[in-house]
Amino acid sequence: CGVLGILDKSMDIPRYVYWGLFALQHRGQESGGIAVSTDDGIKTFRGMGLVSNIFADGVPEVEGHIGIGHVRYSTTGSNNPANIQPLTVYTSKGQVALAHNGNLTNTRTLRTELDDGGATFQTTMDSEIIVNLISRSRKDTVEEQIMESMNRIQGAYALVIMTKDKLFGVRDPYGFRPLCIGRTTNGGWVLSSETCGLDAIGASFVRDVQPGEMVSITESGITSTFFAKADRKQICSFEYIYFARPDSVIDGQDVYQARLAMGREMAKETQYDADLVISVPDSGNTAAIGYAMESGIPFNHGLIKNRYMGRTFIKPNQKQRELAVRMKLNVVKSVVKGKRIVMVDDSIVRGTTSGIICKLLREAGAKEVNMCVSAPPIMYPCFYGIDTSVRKELIAATLSVEEIRKFIGVDQLHFISIDGLCRAIPNIPREDMCLACFNNDYPTDIPAANEKGEKY
Ligand code: 5GP
Ligand code: SF4
Ligand code: MG
Repeated sequence: CGVLGILDKSMDIPRYVYWGLFALQHRGQESGGIAVSTDDGIKTFRGMGLVSNIFADGVPEVEGHIGIGHVRYSTTGSNNPANIQPLTVYTSKGQVALAHNGNLTNTRTLRTELDDGGATFQTTMDSEIIVNLISRSRKDTVEEQIMESMNRIQGAYALVIMTKDKLFGVRDPYGFRPLCIGRTTNGGWVLSSETCGLDAIGASFVRDVQPGEMVSITESGITSTFFAKADRKQICSFEYIYFARPDSVIDGQDVYQARLAMGREMAKETQYDADLVISVPDSGNTAAIGYAMESGIPFNHGLIKNRYMGRTFIKPNQKQRELAVRMKLNVVKSVVKGKRIVMVDDSIVRGTTSGIICKLLREAGAKEVNMCVSAPPIMYPCFYGIDTSVRKELIAATLSVEEIRKFIGVDQLHFISIDGLCRAIPNIPREDMCLACFNNDYPTDIPAANEKGEKY
């Protein structure tokens, strides 16, 4: 998911939140919404689909000086209108609105506890547990209510929270999901999942929210409190591989440069003898350029993406997924014909995309199709907000690299090594990076049902 918050007296808040969300759209296309603190209380506007569809009839015409927004990418909680964020609750301290990126890992326990305490839930989202905890806290101030709640929840969360006159940004003690702070040209404040959200509204980057930190922003400025400290940071490596936009900088690491370096690492690791490097657009583009730069093999566009297609990853069945890939990607025959190709993509999840593309390339006359993947084999589910949570659907969980190579039909297949990946992300120390979906080293307890590869 993507989250954003703005506090600025002189801005048209709904419009700026909209633009910020527009820049974060890649983090979730399922639904979204904007909440604005007005003189008349918090007003929320939400809908299904892309932000441009949700607000096709215009951005809400309300006045306020604080706003938050969310774009949703479904992991827990089904694709369902009830699950749209931001969520708003009434508490003894007034209204509170919240937008969450991440996934909690102690949902079961907390939900049972809250159910026993008489709470009722309108949605299947773990984020609703957070607002419930905040609203039920007996502490004196909203700050304390939030901090108490943060010490109950476990797992991944980057939150923007808004009350009538305050904006909060919170990041879990491991810092799985990104969240940064920026300033508007008017001296206002912005919180955004990624720096590309700041750029879109002309705000300048100040710093990242730190793991375990809560920042509290009012018109008179920003204050910082640390509510917890983990033994190590665990910044999600998959943000650098795939999830974040390449023009963002996360925790001091430029995403574009990391992807270029992943390509370079793969070129060193493979040394394939080939005529042409192509990418699977758009997610493979930057690593493919890095591969070409390092190997000296020319890069060209061998595949063209239809810009008007949504993402193909989450489709109900295999047949539909295949059709979707064919709609989304087409081969430039004149480029690939007769060539020995290195095809670069960011990840293999189910293996659907690569298998179909390989077939298309061969039909177009490619002499050899070799594949490089800038994520190591995804062998274990993610419990922290990336939708690779069903173990049996992960091809690398059951097949070896050689079996995957046969399945997708390429001549040679290489996954970046974990060492190579870590070298490509030089500004994040290896011990501070989550690599659990590749190496099974989960930094937290994980939900029991999911160990068997089932969704909860
Ligand atoms: P596969 O076809 O192997 O299941 O999926 C691999 C493709 O899906 C890659 O091209 C990659 O860019 C994309 N992908 C990887 N992880 C995710 C994800 O979490 N969400 C979405 N929407 N796409 C993903
Ligand atoms: Fe990121 Fe993988 Fe860790 Fe999930 S398990 S947070 S996708 S590195
Ligand atoms: Mg892709």
